[in-house]
Amino acid sequence: MNGTTLESRSRHAADEPRPIGFESQRVSSIGFSQTLAMGRRATELVKEGRDVISLGLGELDLEIPEPIRTAAAEAAMRGEGRSPPVEGLARLREGISRKLMRDNGLQYSPSEVLVSGGTKQIIFSAMMATLDPQDEVIIPAPYWVSYPDIVRLAGGTPVIVSCGIEQAHKLSAEALEAAITNKTRWIVLNSPNNPTGIVYNDDELRALADVIRRHPRVMVLADEIYENFIYEPLLFKSFASLAPDLKSRTLIVNGFSKSFAMIGWRIGYGAAPADLVTAMIKVQSQVNSGVATIAQAGAIAAIELPLTAISTFRDEYRRRRDRVAVLMSRIPDFPYAPPGGAFYFYPLCDAYIGRKTADGKPIESDVDLAEYLLQTVDVVTVPGSSFGFGPALRLSYTCPESRLDEAFDRIRTALSALH
Ligand code: PLP
Repeated sequence: MNGTTLESRSRHAADEPRPIGFESQRVSSIGFSQTLAMGRRATELVKEGRDVISLGLGELDLEIPEPIRTAAAEAAMRGEGRSPPVEGLARLREGISRKLMRDNGLQYSPSEVLVSGGTKQIIFSAMMATLDPQDEVIIPAPYWVSYPDIVRLAGGTPVIVSCGIEQAHKLSAEALEAAITNKTRWIVLNSPNNPTGIVYNDDELRALADVIRRHPRVMVLADEIYENFIYEPLLFKSFASLAPDLKSRTLIVNGFSKSFAMIGWRIGYGAAPADLVTAMIKVQSQVNSGVATIAQAGAIAAIELPLTAISTFRDEYRRRRDRVAVLMSRIPDFPYAPPGGAFYFYPLCDAYIGRKTADGKPIESDVDLAEYLLQTVDVVTVPGSSFGFGPALRLSYTCPESRLDEAFDRIRTALSALH
């Protein structure tokens, strides 16, 4: 059945007056990605000639390793450009399957791996493939901006579980148990975390696994995109490696945007039981027919790189994390859960809400505070309300150390001017 025939379609069903605007109800229920919007804002101000420092983006400022660029250039020069397989090139899926064994001790056959146009698309395909109306997805907050809206786009209901600073913004087993209903389809786990940088330890993940085990319909979306940004003495553990019996209900989500600084190449991957992968391929076959072959050629080279090639990224970001911790200690009333990974700090800013600027303007929310920092000291931040938990600011250390010193000096000056 490929559509409704004219004869079977009831004209009367459409007689109700319908709104004339462009947006469907589904699209009206979501917003633009706030982090991308802040990025655009920063670009505009730079064009105006302002000395803007952006702590707003989750995008590395480092170069893509040379072998990746060469492999993609060579693929282009060979004239590669035929239709890619929807699920990804076989060599890339094989490479990802080897990587999952090498780095995570997980056995996935290439048929259990799917390549997509970014990690974001993996999450989208998974939600489209599995959610029915009424289905719920548990998302601990603070959360990465796109999870709830992707769930809404797919017709599901995000269930947000607030995780305060006193629990280091981590979902507890008790809170998870209390949030699960017979409508729960997925629980989203993201460690290392965007926007807080926090990392769940093995015991915390095992405790969550114990709860999930008791609810056979619930699946786990383990967003492990910051796998390589985890700082000593912490070590990365994939959720499925800590709870092997739940591997059959886990979707591992990962990609090339962070580990290899390839965000503009739009390439991510998922690993899951073959049936789920097949359902996601079905979605993807109707959405983008597969990922650009040239980007995949680069990704094949990336996945084969020795781990030392990306440890330089990690070393650089660990140095910055440590530097920002020093800079943050100079700013009063800006508490945060210490980040063990990713490239963010997430200070709460309750103490500054309700104060006034030098010219008497009230700061009523973290959105006002972010705007104030942008207007007065040209520093881009992202308000915590975008991540479902505030008042707070997300500060990314994706710019060089010298600029970080300058940015945090500016923030300290601007905050101390509020009264
Ligand atoms: N998941 C998390 C936690 C992220 O922070 C991001 C990007 O910032 C993504 C997914 C999306 O990554 P991609 O560029 O691969 O779509």
